[in-house]
Amino acid sequence: MEQFIDIHIAKVEPLTTQANLAYWDASTTGKPEDYERFNNLQLEIRRIYHNPQEFAFLKEIKESGQVGDVRLARQLDKLYYAYLRNQIEPELLEKLVDLDGRIQEKYNTFRGTIDGQKVTMSDIYTILTTEKDCHKRELAWRASKQVGDAIVDDLIQLVKLRNEAARKVGFDNYHTLSIVTGEQNIKELDDIFKELCALTNESFAQLKKELDQVLAESYGIAPEDLMPWHYHDPFFQRTPLVYDLDLDIYYKDEDVKELAERYYAGVGLPVDDILARSDLYDREGKYPHAFSFEADRDGDVRILCNLQNTERWMETILHELGHAIYSKYHDRGEPWLLREPAHSFTTEAIAMFFGRLSRNAKWMQQMLGLPDEQRAKIEKVSEKYLQYQQVLFVRWAAVMYNFEKQLYADPEQDLNTLWWDLVEKYQFVKRPPGPVDAGWASKLHFTTAPCYYHNYMLGELLASQLHNHIVQKVLMLESDEGVSYVGDRRVGDYLRRKVLQPGALYHWNEMIMRATGEPLTPKYFVEQFIK
Ligand SMILES: [Zn+2]
Repeated sequence: MEQFIDIHIAKVEPLTTQANLAYWDASTTGKPEDYERFNNLQLEIRRIYHNPQEFAFLKEIKESGQVGDVRLARQLDKLYYAYLRNQIEPELLEKLVDLDGRIQEKYNTFRGTIDGQKVTMSDIYTILTTEKDCHKRELAWRASKQVGDAIVDDLIQLVKLRNEAARKVGFDNYHTLSIVTGEQNIKELDDIFKELCALTNESFAQLKKELDQVLAESYGIAPEDLMPWHYHDPFFQRTPLVYDLDLDIYYKDEDVKELAERYYAGVGLPVDDILARSDLYDREGKYPHAFSFEADRDGDVRILCNLQNTERWMETILHELGHAIYSKYHDRGEPWLLREPAHSFTTEAIAMFFGRLSRNAKWMQQMLGLPDEQRAKIEKVSEKYLQYQQVLFVRWAAVMYNFEKQLYADPEQDLNTLWWDLVEKYQFVKRPPGPVDAGWASKLHFTTAPCYYHNYMLGELLASQLHNHIVQKVLMLESDEGVSYVGDRRVGDYLRRKVLQPGALYHWNEMIMRATGEPLTPKYFVEQFIK
């Protein structure tokens, strides 16, 4: 086993670093040759994981149960699932990677239009958060969805190819394969979503009714005439900032990059080296959103953003840096295969844990130097926003999770209608009149992070669980009132020791057990936001 790992890493490590760097180049420049280089390297890596003899060897060892050493056993698990995911014949794999790359390239370089004028996603967000003219809002919202129709045929084709690949290794479809090889369980996920939806039905209906009244009034229309473009976000996945207080005004004369840098240094998780390597501002051809990036599992960590001094970007940079510190602080003494987060949702949890602070009144007071009256004013509404954002997110994630599950179960069905059925059911947003388009496909996650969305929800649950543990057991406080973690190194110390350093040394639920004393539970999320 040890010998196998040594040989494997010697091949995979340098290729992974090269592929990562090619992806960075492609995302920052939008150049076709960078995308091609990335696709080729990715293909080369996947070919290694395709090797059927090596997979048979791993399977045999795993089933024998002979690997007792914790580190070795975890590496075996990682390898086993990585090989299992890639037991696809080379021709099919090549088609998959090509199509994936083609969609991403189209997506990244596509610009929607309003009255024939090209607009960026930043322009669209500005219109959706400030414009009062309903016609202009509708045009901007539709512009945000145009990329959906442009890529949907390729995307459906991709879904079918992924299903074909999954069936060849014995799964009913790609959704099932993703969950199982992600060391998760569909029944458990279904149960979590059912529980969360049941617990939020009433509170969401109430919050939405209040919100609709405020929104309708601001546009001078009746609440029943509200359409999807009235909700400040193309997918209504973020809370419109409408209640008496606009948080953007607190950030517009600040530098969100400097705030994030100062904050992370204060909790003992400095990010200056990360920011120095990062690509932070909008540019033609560049990937329009944000992500965190690790080149080599050896300290070269960066983020990509399109920063503006708004609350949304304050949250985003805190979030992406949360991912980045997870990567940065893995124990470099651990083997390469384990220098990864315990699971993709555990890194989401750390990102969310910090991202939530952009609306925390105490945090804003301490970071922005606000007087007490202003803090009180923010507090009055920010708690409502935080609660709203979380309840809203449960509903939105339920749309994504259920849609994708059905998308892979039957990609031939009328997906455009299915999408709006789910949006009406969970988000209580009306479908627009007229023929339905494939606006749903403008959600890039369907292409780049398939069957992944539930992990954002699990991330929220874990962020609340960690928050609760830190408040009660690390800071020894009775309640989390006024907790902002500003300047408190105990927070960074705890997270580094219990979550970041171990990386993937333990199965995700064992890591959570060790860090908080119990396995993952929705309990603390519900306590914090839904009660
Ligand atoms: Zn994230």
